[in-house]
Amino acid sequence: MSHIYQPVMIRHLLRNGGRSSVQEIAAALLVEDRSQVEYYAQITNNMVGRVLRRRDVVAKEQKQYELLGFGSFSQEHIEHLVQACNERLNEYLESRGAAIWDHRRKSAGYVSGTLRYEVLKNAKFRCELCGISAEEKALEVDHIIPRSKGGIDEIANLQALCYSCNAMKRDRDDTDFRLVKAAYEQRAENCPFCDISDRPILYENNLAIAFEDIYPVTPGHVLVVPRRHEPNYFNLGAPEVRACHDLLQQAQATIQQGDSSVMGFNVGINCGSTAGQTVMHCHVHLIPRRDGDHPNPRGGVRGVIPGKADYSAKEA
Ligand code: AMP
Ligand code: ZN
Repeated sequence: MSHIYQPVMIRHLLRNGGRSSVQEIAAALLVEDRSQVEYYAQITNNMVGRVLRRRDVVAKEQKQYELLGFGSFSQEHIEHLVQACNERLNEYLESRGAAIWDHRRKSAGYVSGTLRYEVLKNAKFRCELCGISAEEKALEVDHIIPRSKGGIDEIANLQALCYSCNAMKRDRDDTDFRLVKAAYEQRAENCPFCDISDRPILYENNLAIAFEDIYPVTPGHVLVVPRRHEPNYFNLGAPEVRACHDLLQQAQATIQQGDSSVMGFNVGINCGSTAGQTVMHCHVHLIPRRDGDHPNPRGGVRGVIPGKADYSAKEA
């Protein structure tokens, strides 16, 4: 969208005697923003259009709405009705003030272009709720915990949503974000991964941290850990999973760049003591692998059960 801002603004100024207010320029940009037009097309069809049809005020044929009885209205009657609509609108705006738009402002908040791109790239240019691609529906960058509730402009607090999912989320804006925030702050006493004061942190964001494993399987072995004390990986929330994944990628890239002997990685999570978990605060192992670090590396993580790693004999 940003590549059309300049021609739209210049064209608008040309058509308005070379001068215009910020509000009017913004409105001109809005008209060209397909995602906004599509968003309001949805509102027209699913909300206002539906109600007015039910009340027999309008009818819809194909993609057109028609005001019922319009053909028989006199000019005077039309003027009278327009005035009635204006009065209704003004009454509402006066009684509620600009506050009627606050729900949009909270979640929309301006996010820098670079961060926006990063969020969309991480989401592979698809809505993180319904999976639709950016080509099919415009994607918006949404604050998971809204700014007004203390959420910050950081990758772990941002997600890519298509305008339909984002609109649905706004309708549910009464979520008690204090509870969500409190849950993120949960720590357990005597947990080695909750108390991180004694070790160097390699990477961090507001929901996860990464540090070196104290007994590394191979040199460079890193643990990625959600900040919240949660034993079970499968109980993490989507933003926490994303936050961990982001650190995993940072750690992987740095190891790969800094150590040319690293030729591969194992990524693993032990879930539950039956599966071998010893520290009951969920963590993801990132284990760099080098040629010759195992006499027969085939099967990798399948090696959790002795003798099961290499399945080549079974293929024969
Ligand atoms: P798991 O068996 O998956 O629960 O793995 C626990 C991992 O945590 C092991 O790889 C340990 O070497 C590592 N570990 C245990 N205590 C610490 C600690 N205080 N700091 C860093 N790593 C630790
Ligand atoms: Zn813990």
